[in-house]
Amino acid sequence: MSEILLENTLTNRKEPFAPLHSGEVRMYTCGPTVYDYAHIGNYRTFVFQDILRRFLHSRGYRINQVMNLTDVDDRIIQNAADRGISIFDYTSKYIAAFKEDMNALSLEPPEHLVRATDHIEDMVKLIEQLEAKGLTYRSDGSIYYRISKFPKYGKLSKVDMSGIQAGARVDVDRYEKADARDFALWKAPKPGEFFWETRIGPGRPGWHIECSAMAMKYLGDTLDIHTGGIDLAFPHHENEIAQSEAATGHPFVRFWLHAEHLIIDGEKMSKSLGNFFTLRDLLQKGHKPSTIRYLLASVPYRRQLNFTGDSVKQAASSVERLRNFATRLKDGKFPSGSNPAMTARIQKAEADFESGLADDLNTAVALAAVFDLVRDVNTAIDRGEFRQQDSAPVLATIKKFDAIFAVVEDNDESRLRTLGFKHSRPEMSAQEIESLITDRQQARNHRDFKRADEIRKELENRGILLEDTRDGGVRWKKK
Ligand SMILES: [Zn+2]
Repeated sequence: MSEILLENTLTNRKEPFAPLHSGEVRMYTCGPTVYDYAHIGNYRTFVFQDILRRFLHSRGYRINQVMNLTDVDDRIIQNAADRGISIFDYTSKYIAAFKEDMNALSLEPPEHLVRATDHIEDMVKLIEQLEAKGLTYRSDGSIYYRISKFPKYGKLSKVDMSGIQAGARVDVDRYEKADARDFALWKAPKPGEFFWETRIGPGRPGWHIECSAMAMKYLGDTLDIHTGGIDLAFPHHENEIAQSEAATGHPFVRFWLHAEHLIIDGEKMSKSLGNFFTLRDLLQKGHKPSTIRYLLASVPYRRQLNFTGDSVKQAASSVERLRNFATRLKDGKFPSGSNPAMTARIQKAEADFESGLADDLNTAVALAAVFDLVRDVNTAIDRGEFRQQDSAPVLATIKKFDAIFAVVEDNDESRLRTLGFKHSRPEMSAQEIESLITDRQQARNHRDFKRADEIRKELENRGILLEDTRDGGVRWKKK
């Protein structure tokens, strides 16, 4: 198997990857700030890290992944106060929604999906360590990190430190780009604002400290991989490095992997441009979860992804093509025996798939290997060169692909229903409806009430209600 190469933002080079602790990959992913539904740009990063963990798992590694849920920040405190509810209640709704979205997109749950507010004590301890080392100062009850005390500041983002003003601070949770300043580790409460009473005083943690504290609590001082969107490299990840390495004296992260932006029709996604989509917005428009997952996964993570109407259509038809192919092999009757050429063809597809992913997760190359195989097998079938015993090995290969891409097995319907989208499939024709009603009538005649009930439910799920009439017939209407 090919050596795994990952492009490391720290060095700007592709480097051979092997975990520090034999057999186990320890990785950290910056999770969502749960003040609203996550948008499709967030999910690009989460799909990338899911492909990464599935690929590493396919190589036999155990995965130990932490993802944080930022459930306290300026916006959350403000929104919860406006609604007169606790920040816990406010964020719980969006945490539940995030988990539902993850499931819809077939994202494997991280081993630790953890709330920042459950780790206040860990953050306080880390801040105390930094204070003891003289890296911090206090101002109006808040505690700041003095970045001039950390000579390696800027090593990840290569930010230019020449214009840094000593003592210039940033207080808000939303950061300007390319403006390195002392950042808040601990924020004193504003009047009336929610806070924790702690050994370092009343207040709440800054955003950066939560990732350092939670990553090291579960994964140790040095992580194998840290992932996130490219917009987090500076200042967020730079600050994570400054906090963690100053506290422990050890390297914090071996491999930094950053996903590029997702843009919509060539433009930056923004609410003001009206091109801002949550996952639910796209499902509401009738797109399937598998289409969105495929599209987000299909462009290698270090390349910008341009999300367009055409790219969505193409993704949908690619998934359809794979599913039809799997069905053709499962249900097809082929001449008996096997074709030795097919074994070699399968091996090549698997090797190409594997080496594509090993090359810094080049999903485009991996998918091309899949579709080349589909094309060649279809051609072999059409020419009568495909034999019955070739079918199982090709299906086994498709299953291996799907262990990473997770789009061939069709869960779309049930996932859409879980999210409350009922009429996701195209409307049924009157003929289809009548035919199902006849089936149901026959099931009843045979006293198979279970089957009859299933058919009634299936119709209901597709928006068709049945009414039994007095004369023993059935009327139907659309909901
Ligand atoms: Zn983070």
